[in-house]
Amino acid sequence: RKASSGSLMTGASTPNRRTDFCQHPGWQQLNIMRESAQKLGVEDPFFRVHEGCSGATAIIDGRECINFASYNYLGLSGDPRVIAAAQQAAAKYGTSVSASRMVSGERPIHRELEQALAQVYQADDALAFVSGHATNVTVIGYLMGSRDLVLHDEYIHNSSLMGSQLSGARRMAFRHNDLNHLEKLLQQNRHQFERVLIVVEGLYSMDGDAPDLAGLIELKETHECWLMVDEAHALGVLGEKGLGSHEHAGIDPNRVDIWMGTLSKNLSGCGGYIAGCQPLIDMLRHFAPGFLYSVGMPASVAAAAIESLRIMHAEPERVRALQKNSEYLAVQAKAAGFDVGESIGRAVVPVISGSSLVATRQSVELLKQGINVQPILYPAVPEKSARLRFFVCSEHTEAQIDFTLEALLLQRKAS
Ligand code: PMP
Repeated sequence: RKASSGSLMTGASTPNRRTDFCQHPGWQQLNIMRESAQKLGVEDPFFRVHEGCSGATAIIDGRECINFASYNYLGLSGDPRVIAAAQQAAAKYGTSVSASRMVSGERPIHRELEQALAQVYQADDALAFVSGHATNVTVIGYLMGSRDLVLHDEYIHNSSLMGSQLSGARRMAFRHNDLNHLEKLLQQNRHQFERVLIVVEGLYSMDGDAPDLAGLIELKETHECWLMVDEAHALGVLGEKGLGSHEHAGIDPNRVDIWMGTLSKNLSGCGGYIAGCQPLIDMLRHFAPGFLYSVGMPASVAAAAIESLRIMHAEPERVRALQKNSEYLAVQAKAAGFDVGESIGRAVVPVISGSSLVATRQSVELLKQGINVQPILYPAVPEKSARLRFFVCSEHTEAQIDFTLEALLLQRKAS
Protein backbone atom coordinates (compact mmCIF):
# COMPACT_ATOMS: atom_id res chain seq x y z
CA ARG A 1 0.00 0.00 0.00
CA LYS A 2 2.74 2.36 1.01
CA ALA A 3 4.73 1.73 -2.13
CA SER A 4 1.81 2.23 -4.46
CA SER A 5 0.62 5.47 -2.84
CA GLY A 6 4.25 6.65 -2.94
CA SER A 7 4.47 6.10 -6.67
CA LEU A 8 1.17 7.92 -7.19
CA MET A 9 2.51 10.87 -5.24
CA THR A 10 5.74 11.10 -7.18
CA GLY A 11 4.33 9.80 -10.42
CA ALA A 12 7.57 7.85 -10.79
CA SER A 13 6.07 4.70 -12.25
CA THR A 14 3.06 6.30 -13.95
CA PRO A 15 4.34 9.50 -15.53
CA ASN A 16 1.39 10.01 -17.85
CA ARG A 17 -1.49 9.69 -15.43
CA ARG A 18 -3.77 12.71 -15.45
CA THR A 19 -3.71 12.67 -11.66
CA ASP A 20 0.05 13.03 -11.63
CA PHE A 21 1.03 16.45 -10.25
CA CYS A 22 4.05 16.40 -12.55
CA GLN A 23 1.60 16.93 -15.43
CA HIS A 24 0.40 20.18 -13.91
CA PRO A 25 1.58 23.33 -15.76
CA GLY A 26 2.75 24.78 -12.45
CA TRP A 27 5.23 21.94 -11.97
CA GLN A 28 6.45 22.32 -15.52
CA GLN A 29 6.90 26.07 -15.04
CA LEU A 30 8.85 25.50 -11.82
CA ASN A 31 11.16 23.06 -13.57
CA ILE A 32 11.84 25.48 -16.41
CA MET A 33 12.70 28.16 -13.83
CA ARG A 34 15.03 25.80 -11.94
CA GLU A 35 16.72 24.53 -15.09
CA SER A 36 17.36 28.01 -16.48
CA ALA A 37 18.73 29.18 -13.10
CA GLN A 38 21.07 26.20 -13.11
CA LYS A 39 22.21 26.87 -16.68
CA LEU A 40 22.88 30.53 -15.88
CA GLY A 41 24.64 29.58 -12.67
CA VAL A 42 22.48 31.72 -10.36
CA GLU A 43 21.53 30.69 -6.85
CA ASP A 44 17.92 30.73 -5.71
CA PRO A 45 17.52 34.06 -3.86
CA PHE A 46 14.17 33.08 -2.32
CA PHE A 47 13.14 31.38 0.92
CA ARG A 48 16.28 32.58 2.70
CA VAL A 49 16.06 31.48 6.31
CA HIS A 50 16.15 34.25 8.90
CA GLU A 51 16.89 33.43 12.52
CA GLY A 52 15.46 35.72 15.16
CA CYS A 53 13.51 38.92 14.53
CA SER A 54 14.24 40.67 11.24
CA GLY A 55 14.13 44.42 10.81
CA ALA A 56 16.98 46.72 9.79
CA THR A 57 19.22 43.71 10.33
CA ALA A 58 18.62 39.99 10.06
CA ILE A 59 20.58 36.86 10.86
CA ILE A 60 20.89 34.75 7.73
CA ASP A 61 23.07 31.63 7.64
CA GLY A 62 24.36 32.54 11.10
CA ARG A 63 25.58 35.93 9.92
CA GLU A 64 24.17 39.36 10.75
CA CYS A 65 23.17 41.20 7.56
CA ILE A 66 21.79 44.62 6.77
CA ASN A 67 18.25 43.71 5.86
CA PHE A 68 16.00 45.36 3.28
CA ALA A 69 13.50 42.53 2.95
CA SER A 70 11.07 42.94 5.84
CA TYR A 71 7.90 44.98 6.25
CA ASN A 72 9.00 45.85 9.77
CA TYR A 73 9.14 49.50 8.68
CA LEU A 74 8.82 51.05 12.14
CA GLY A 75 10.84 48.39 13.94
CA LEU A 76 7.89 47.37 16.09
CA SER A 77 7.87 43.63 15.50
CA GLY A 78 10.33 42.67 18.20
CA ASP A 79 9.69 45.75 20.36
CA PRO A 80 9.63 44.47 23.98
CA ARG A 81 6.34 46.27 24.66
CA VAL A 82 4.67 44.61 21.67
CA ILE A 83 6.02 41.21 22.66
CA ALA A 84 4.82 41.69 26.25
CA ALA A 85 1.32 42.64 25.05
CA ALA A 86 1.17 39.53 22.87
CA GLN A 87 2.43 37.31 25.69
CA GLN A 88 -0.11 38.68 28.16
CA ALA A 89 -2.97 38.18 25.72
CA ALA A 90 -1.85 34.62 24.96
CA ALA A 91 -1.62 33.87 28.68
CA LYS A 92 -5.12 35.25 29.22
CA TYR A 93 -6.97 33.93 26.16
CA GLY A 94 -4.81 31.02 24.96
CA THR A 95 -3.08 30.85 21.61
CA SER A 96 -6.23 30.40 19.53
CA VAL A 97 -9.80 31.63 19.92
CA SER A 98 -10.76 28.23 18.50
CA ALA A 99 -13.86 29.27 16.57
CA SER A 100 -15.27 31.78 14.14
CA ARG A 101 -15.99 34.98 16.03
CA MET A 102 -19.70 34.71 15.31
CA VAL A 103 -19.88 31.24 16.85
CA SER A 104 -17.82 31.56 20.01
CA GLY A 105 -14.57 33.18 19.04
CA GLU A 106 -15.31 36.82 19.97
CA ARG A 107 -12.98 38.33 22.58
CA PRO A 108 -13.05 41.92 23.90
CA ILE A 109 -9.61 42.48 22.40
CA HIS A 110 -10.99 42.06 18.85
CA ARG A 111 -13.33 45.01 19.28
CA GLU A 112 -10.61 47.03 21.00
CA LEU A 113 -8.39 46.60 17.93
CA GLU A 114 -11.22 47.43 15.55
CA GLN A 115 -12.07 50.61 17.40
CA ALA A 116 -8.42 51.70 17.36
CA LEU A 117 -8.27 51.03 13.60
CA ALA A 118 -11.55 52.86 12.95
CA GLN A 119 -10.10 55.93 14.68
CA VAL A 120 -7.20 56.10 12.20
CA TYR A 121 -9.78 56.71 9.44
CA GLN A 122 -12.33 58.59 11.58
CA ALA A 123 -14.63 55.81 10.43
CA ASP A 124 -17.78 54.46 12.09
CA ASP A 125 -16.23 51.05 12.57
CA ALA A 126 -13.68 48.49 11.38
CA LEU A 127 -13.47 44.72 11.02
CA ALA A 128 -10.34 42.57 11.45
CA PHE A 129 -9.72 39.43 9.38
CA VAL A 130 -7.13 36.67 9.87
CA SER A 131 -5.22 37.41 6.67
CA GLY A 132 -4.54 40.53 4.63
CA HIS A 133 -4.70 38.62 1.37
CA ALA A 134 -7.96 36.95 2.37
CA THR A 135 -9.42 40.34 3.33
CA ASN A 136 -9.24 41.61 -0.25
CA VAL A 137 -10.36 38.30 -1.71
CA THR A 138 -13.40 37.96 0.50
CA VAL A 139 -14.46 41.61 0.70
CA ILE A 140 -14.29 42.36 -3.02
CA GLY A 141 -15.61 38.85 -3.73
CA TYR A 142 -18.58 39.44 -1.45
CA LEU A 143 -19.44 43.05 -2.30
CA MET A 144 -19.35 42.80 -6.08
CA GLY A 145 -21.46 40.65 -8.39
CA SER A 146 -22.19 39.78 -11.99
CA ARG A 147 -23.89 43.12 -12.77
CA ASP A 148 -20.96 45.11 -11.40
CA LEU A 149 -17.62 46.40 -12.57
CA VAL A 150 -14.27 46.44 -10.77
CA LEU A 151 -11.85 49.04 -12.13
CA HIS A 152 -8.39 48.67 -10.69
CA ASP A 153 -4.91 50.03 -11.20
CA GLU A 154 -2.90 47.67 -13.41
CA TYR A 155 -0.37 47.19 -10.58
CA ILE A 156 -2.94 46.23 -7.96
CA HIS A 157 -1.99 43.44 -5.56
CA ASN A 158 -2.84 39.85 -6.40
CA SER A 159 -5.34 39.67 -3.51
CA SER A 160 -7.54 42.36 -5.10
CA LEU A 161 -7.32 40.61 -8.46
CA MET A 162 -8.38 37.34 -6.87
CA GLY A 163 -11.28 39.05 -5.11
CA SER A 164 -12.41 40.65 -8.36
CA GLN A 165 -12.29 37.31 -10.17
CA LEU A 166 -14.17 35.57 -7.39
CA SER A 167 -16.91 38.20 -7.42
CA GLY A 168 -17.95 37.42 -11.00
CA ALA A 169 -17.92 41.16 -11.78
CA ARG A 170 -16.45 42.54 -15.01
CA ARG A 171 -12.88 43.58 -14.35
CA MET A 172 -10.88 46.27 -16.13
CA ALA A 173 -7.42 47.58 -15.37
CA PHE A 174 -6.47 51.21 -15.89
CA ARG A 175 -2.89 52.21 -16.61
CA HIS A 176 -0.81 52.69 -13.49
CA ASN A 177 -1.76 55.92 -11.70
CA ASP A 178 -3.30 57.21 -14.95
CA LEU A 179 -6.49 59.00 -13.97
CA ASN A 180 -7.18 60.09 -17.55
CA HIS A 181 -7.36 56.44 -18.54
CA LEU A 182 -9.60 55.68 -15.56
CA GLU A 183 -11.90 58.56 -16.49
CA LYS A 184 -12.13 57.32 -20.06
CA LEU A 185 -13.06 53.83 -18.88
CA LEU A 186 -15.68 55.30 -16.57
CA GLN A 187 -17.17 57.44 -19.33
CA GLN A 188 -17.34 54.44 -21.65
CA ASN A 189 -18.59 51.84 -19.20
CA ARG A 190 -20.18 53.28 -16.07
CA HIS A 191 -23.72 53.29 -17.45
CA GLN A 192 -23.67 49.55 -18.19
CA PHE A 193 -23.12 48.46 -14.61
CA GLU A 194 -25.04 48.63 -11.39
CA ARG A 195 -22.16 49.13 -8.96
CA VAL A 196 -18.63 50.15 -9.79
CA LEU A 197 -15.69 49.70 -7.45
CA ILE A 198 -12.37 51.46 -8.06
CA VAL A 199 -9.47 49.73 -6.30
CA VAL A 200 -6.08 51.36 -5.74
CA GLU A 201 -3.21 51.14 -3.27
CA GLY A 202 -2.14 53.98 -1.02
CA LEU A 203 1.52 53.12 -1.64
CA TYR A 204 2.38 50.63 -4.35
CA SER A 205 4.37 47.74 -2.99
CA MET A 206 6.54 47.20 -6.07
CA ASP A 207 7.23 50.81 -7.04
CA GLY A 208 6.85 52.83 -3.87
CA ASP A 209 4.72 55.42 -5.65
CA ALA A 210 1.33 56.79 -4.66
CA PRO A 211 -1.88 57.64 -6.53
CA ASP A 212 -3.54 61.05 -6.76
CA LEU A 213 -6.11 60.44 -4.04
CA ALA A 214 -7.88 63.79 -4.47
CA GLY A 215 -8.29 63.11 -8.20
CA LEU A 216 -9.61 59.62 -7.54
CA ILE A 217 -12.18 60.95 -5.08
CA GLU A 218 -13.34 63.52 -7.59
CA LEU A 219 -13.79 60.83 -10.24
CA LYS A 220 -15.56 58.38 -7.98
CA GLU A 221 -17.95 61.12 -6.78
CA THR A 222 -18.71 62.29 -10.33
CA HIS A 223 -19.36 58.76 -11.58
CA GLU A 224 -21.01 57.44 -8.40
CA CYS A 225 -18.59 54.64 -7.69
CA TRP A 226 -17.08 53.17 -4.56
CA LEU A 227 -13.41 53.81 -3.92
CA MET A 228 -11.35 51.21 -2.05
CA VAL A 229 -7.81 52.08 -0.96
CA ASP A 230 -5.45 49.30 0.12
CA GLU A 231 -3.24 50.84 2.81
CA ALA A 232 -1.08 47.76 3.36
CA HIS A 233 2.13 49.74 2.79
CA ALA A 234 0.79 53.19 3.67
CA LEU A 235 -0.23 52.92 7.32
CA GLY A 236 2.67 54.03 9.49
CA VAL A 237 4.51 55.19 6.37
CA LEU A 238 2.62 58.10 4.78
CA GLY A 239 1.67 61.36 6.47
CA GLU A 240 3.45 63.11 9.33
CA LYS A 241 1.80 60.91 11.93
CA GLY A 242 1.82 57.83 9.74
CA LEU A 243 -1.95 57.76 9.40
CA GLY A 244 -1.58 56.88 5.74
CA SER A 245 -2.83 58.17 2.41
CA HIS A 246 -5.51 60.50 3.70
CA GLU A 247 -3.03 62.33 5.91
CA HIS A 248 -0.45 62.40 3.09
CA ALA A 249 -3.01 63.87 0.67
CA GLY A 250 -4.77 66.10 3.23
CA ILE A 251 -8.11 64.42 2.51
CA ASP A 252 -11.08 63.80 4.80
CA PRO A 253 -10.88 60.00 5.21
CA ASN A 254 -14.66 59.75 5.09
CA ARG A 255 -14.53 60.55 1.39
CA VAL A 256 -13.07 57.08 0.73
CA ASP A 257 -15.70 54.33 0.92
CA ILE A 258 -13.53 51.37 1.86
CA TRP A 259 -10.21 51.56 3.67
CA MET A 260 -8.32 48.29 3.66
CA GLY A 261 -5.09 47.52 5.47
CA THR A 262 -2.96 44.74 6.88
CA LEU A 263 -1.51 43.94 10.28
CA SER A 264 1.55 42.33 8.70
CA LYS A 265 3.53 45.51 8.11
CA ASN A 266 3.61 48.11 10.87
CA LEU A 267 1.19 46.34 13.17
CA SER A 268 3.57 43.50 13.91
CA GLY A 269 1.30 40.57 13.22
CA CYS A 270 -0.73 39.11 10.44
CA GLY A 271 -4.26 39.78 9.35
CA GLY A 272 -6.20 42.40 7.47
CA TYR A 273 -8.86 45.00 8.20
CA ILE A 274 -11.56 47.08 6.61
CA ALA A 275 -12.62 50.46 7.98
CA GLY A 276 -15.67 52.34 6.79
CA CYS A 277 -19.29 53.21 7.49
CA GLN A 278 -21.48 51.14 9.80
CA PRO A 279 -23.65 49.44 7.13
CA LEU A 280 -20.51 48.26 5.29
CA ILE A 281 -18.88 46.86 8.42
CA ASP A 282 -22.09 45.26 9.74
CA MET A 283 -22.70 43.59 6.40
CA LEU A 284 -19.16 42.20 6.21
CA ARG A 285 -19.32 41.05 9.84
CA HIS A 286 -22.43 39.01 9.09
CA PHE A 287 -21.85 37.82 5.53
CA ALA A 288 -18.26 38.07 4.25
CA PRO A 289 -17.29 34.38 3.98
CA GLY A 290 -13.62 34.93 4.84
CA PHE A 291 -14.73 36.43 8.14
CA LEU A 292 -17.77 34.34 8.92
CA TYR A 293 -16.34 30.93 8.09
CA SER A 294 -12.83 31.53 9.36
CA VAL A 295 -11.44 31.46 12.87
CA GLY A 296 -11.15 34.72 14.81
CA MET A 297 -7.72 36.29 15.03
CA PRO A 298 -5.57 34.99 17.93
CA ALA A 299 -5.77 37.40 20.88
CA SER A 300 -1.97 37.70 20.90
CA VAL A 301 -2.01 39.02 17.33
CA ALA A 302 -4.75 41.53 18.14
CA ALA A 303 -2.83 42.67 21.24
CA ALA A 304 0.41 43.11 19.27
CA ALA A 305 -1.45 45.23 16.71
CA ILE A 306 -3.11 47.40 19.38
CA GLU A 307 0.24 48.01 21.08
CA SER A 308 1.98 48.75 17.77
CA LEU A 309 -0.70 51.27 16.86
CA ARG A 310 -0.39 52.88 20.30
CA ILE A 311 3.41 53.19 19.89
CA MET A 312 3.03 54.53 16.35
CA HIS A 313 0.76 57.32 17.69
CA ALA A 314 2.95 58.00 20.75
CA GLU A 315 6.30 57.98 18.91
CA PRO A 316 5.89 59.82 15.61
CA GLU A 317 9.68 60.16 15.47
CA ARG A 318 9.69 56.55 14.17
CA VAL A 319 7.62 57.61 11.19
CA ARG A 320 9.93 60.57 10.59
CA ALA A 321 13.03 58.33 10.77
CA LEU A 322 11.50 55.89 8.28
CA GLN A 323 10.67 58.71 5.90
CA LYS A 324 14.12 60.26 6.26
CA ASN A 325 15.88 56.93 5.63
CA SER A 326 13.82 55.95 2.63
CA GLU A 327 14.11 59.40 1.09
CA TYR A 328 17.87 59.25 1.62
CA LEU A 329 18.14 55.88 -0.12
CA ALA A 330 15.94 56.99 -3.04
CA VAL A 331 17.75 60.32 -3.53
CA GLN A 332 21.27 58.88 -3.21
CA ALA A 333 20.51 55.92 -5.47
CA LYS A 334 19.08 58.23 -8.11
CA ALA A 335 22.07 60.58 -7.83
CA ALA A 336 24.34 57.57 -8.39
CA GLY A 337 22.50 56.88 -11.64
CA PHE A 338 20.28 54.00 -10.53
CA ASP A 339 16.72 53.83 -11.81
CA VAL A 340 14.40 54.13 -8.81
CA GLY A 341 11.32 54.55 -10.99
CA GLU A 342 8.64 56.81 -9.55
CA SER A 343 9.35 55.97 -5.90
CA ILE A 344 8.34 58.82 -3.63
CA GLY A 345 10.96 57.73 -1.10
CA ARG A 346 8.63 56.21 1.45
CA ALA A 347 9.54 52.73 2.73
CA VAL A 348 9.63 51.03 -0.70
CA VAL A 349 12.51 51.88 -3.05
CA PRO A 350 13.10 49.83 -6.21
CA VAL A 351 16.38 49.72 -8.08
CA ILE A 352 15.33 48.72 -11.55
CA SER A 353 17.77 46.87 -13.80
CA GLY A 354 15.25 45.60 -16.33
CA SER A 355 16.55 42.03 -16.24
CA SER A 356 15.50 39.16 -13.99
CA LEU A 357 18.96 37.66 -14.36
CA VAL A 358 20.75 40.87 -13.37
CA ALA A 359 18.42 41.44 -10.39
CA THR A 360 18.96 37.87 -9.18
CA ARG A 361 22.73 38.17 -9.53
CA GLN A 362 22.71 41.52 -7.72
CA SER A 363 20.76 40.01 -4.85
CA VAL A 364 23.05 36.97 -4.55
CA GLU A 365 26.20 39.12 -4.71
CA LEU A 366 24.88 41.63 -2.16
CA LEU A 367 24.14 38.83 0.29
CA LYS A 368 27.77 37.76 0.05
CA GLN A 369 28.61 41.25 1.29
CA GLY A 370 26.14 41.05 4.15
CA ILE A 371 23.21 42.86 2.54
CA ASN A 372 19.87 41.12 2.17
CA VAL A 373 17.57 42.53 -0.51
CA GLN A 374 15.15 40.59 -2.66
CA PRO A 375 14.91 40.64 -6.44
CA ILE A 376 11.48 41.08 -7.99
CA LEU A 377 11.32 39.15 -11.20
CA TYR A 378 9.02 38.43 -14.09
CA PRO A 379 6.11 37.57 -13.84
CA ALA A 380 5.67 39.58 -10.59
CA VAL A 381 6.68 42.60 -12.72
CA PRO A 382 7.23 42.85 -16.50
CA GLU A 383 10.72 41.60 -17.46
CA LYS A 384 11.77 45.11 -18.53
CA SER A 385 11.20 46.33 -14.99
CA ALA A 386 12.79 43.48 -13.01
CA ARG A 387 14.44 45.00 -9.97
CA LEU A 388 15.82 44.85 -6.49
CA ARG A 389 13.22 46.03 -4.01
CA PHE A 390 14.41 47.73 -0.84
CA PHE A 391 12.11 47.83 2.17
CA VAL A 392 13.54 50.54 4.42
CA CYS A 393 13.10 50.71 8.20
CA SER A 394 13.16 53.52 10.75
CA GLU A 395 16.01 51.61 12.43
CA HIS A 396 18.38 51.67 9.44
CA THR A 397 21.37 53.94 9.87
CA GLU A 398 22.74 56.28 7.23
CA ALA A 399 26.01 54.29 7.38
CA GLN A 400 24.13 51.08 6.50
CA ILE A 401 22.47 52.78 3.55
CA ASP A 402 25.80 54.26 2.37
CA PHE A 403 27.48 50.85 2.64
CA THR A 404 24.68 49.34 0.56
CA LEU A 405 24.94 52.02 -2.13
CA GLU A 406 28.70 51.54 -2.30
CA ALA A 407 28.22 47.79 -2.75
CA LEU A 408 25.74 48.45 -5.57
CA LEU A 409 28.16 50.85 -7.25
CA LEU A 410 31.04 48.39 -7.01
CA GLN A 411 28.84 45.70 -8.52
CA ARG A 412 27.94 47.98 -11.39
CA LYS A 413 31.60 48.75 -12.05
CA ALA A 414 32.51 45.07 -11.98
CA SER A 415 29.78 44.04 -14.41
N1 PMP B 1 -2.28 44.23 -0.13
C1 PMP B 1 -1.04 44.61 -0.50
C2 PMP B 1 -0.86 45.88 -1.26
C3 PMP B 1 0.07 43.82 -0.18
O1 PMP B 1 1.30 44.20 -0.55
C4 PMP B 1 -0.13 42.60 0.54
C5 PMP B 1 1.02 41.70 0.89
N2 PMP B 1 2.16 42.31 1.25
C6 PMP B 1 -1.44 42.25 0.88
C7 PMP B 1 -2.47 43.07 0.54
C8 PMP B 1 -1.69 40.98 1.64
O2 PMP B 1 -1.35 41.18 2.97
P1 PMP B 1 -0.80 40.04 3.94
O3 PMP B 1 0.60 39.73 3.52
O4 PMP B 1 -0.86 40.71 5.25
O5 PMP B 1 -1.70 38.88 3.80
